[in-house]
Amino acid sequence: MLNLINHPLLAHKLTCLRRKETGTSLFRETLAEIAGLMVYEITKDLPVRQVIAETPLGLCKSMELATDVVLIPVLRAGLGMVEGITRLIPSARIGHIGIYRNDDTLQPMTYYSKFPDNLHEAVIMILDPMLATGGSSSAAIGMLKSRGAKNIKLISVIGAPEGVERLKNDHPDVIIYLAGLDDKLNEYGYIIPGLGDAGDRLFGTE
Ligand code: URA
Repeated sequence: MLNLINHPLLAHKLTCLRRKETGTSLFRETLAEIAGLMVYEITKDLPVRQVIAETPLGLCKSMELATDVVLIPVLRAGLGMVEGITRLIPSARIGHIGIYRNDDTLQPMTYYSKFPDNLHEAVIMILDPMLATGGSSSAAIGMLKSRGAKNIKLISVIGAPEGVERLKNDHPDVIIYLAGLDDKLNEYGYIIPGLGDAGDRLFGTE
């Protein structure tokens, strides 16, 4: 299922992220802010439990989160979304996954992975700002499912229709969150109009 988040502030920040004049420092700051703004929608269905909080003036029936949250940034660009989310969910545990595409087979290859335990009990948020072909996101989701993950959300910023279709087919149980849905992919797998290479813009590489 696709959840395309529509909010004026998010739309404004997304424009800043897309502009080619936006340099590394502002890009980094804005990506973190966008991830933080997306959290409000992404966490809307998290379970809560009732607790009693003692205020300076008395007891209050109150709520707290009743689930573990695990963030899985996809290297490299997913790292740029971690800070914006952990600012709001500081208890989140963080795993990492690195995937590249084999130039001969075009298959996604995992070169690094490290996950927290008890994935089956947690809400898992895979972070990857660009949902292009969907190949690496689909592979990451498959790997997490094979480790027991049941409740998985994919948090991207910009998506292409090709990637959304791929994920709907491969993992229909996973909700995809986007701040923008663009036109298409070019022949190199970049999203058009997109924002270019998210990893390069985030880390100041070419
Ligand atoms: N990854 C990027 O960084 N940008 C794209 O447009 C597609 C994949």
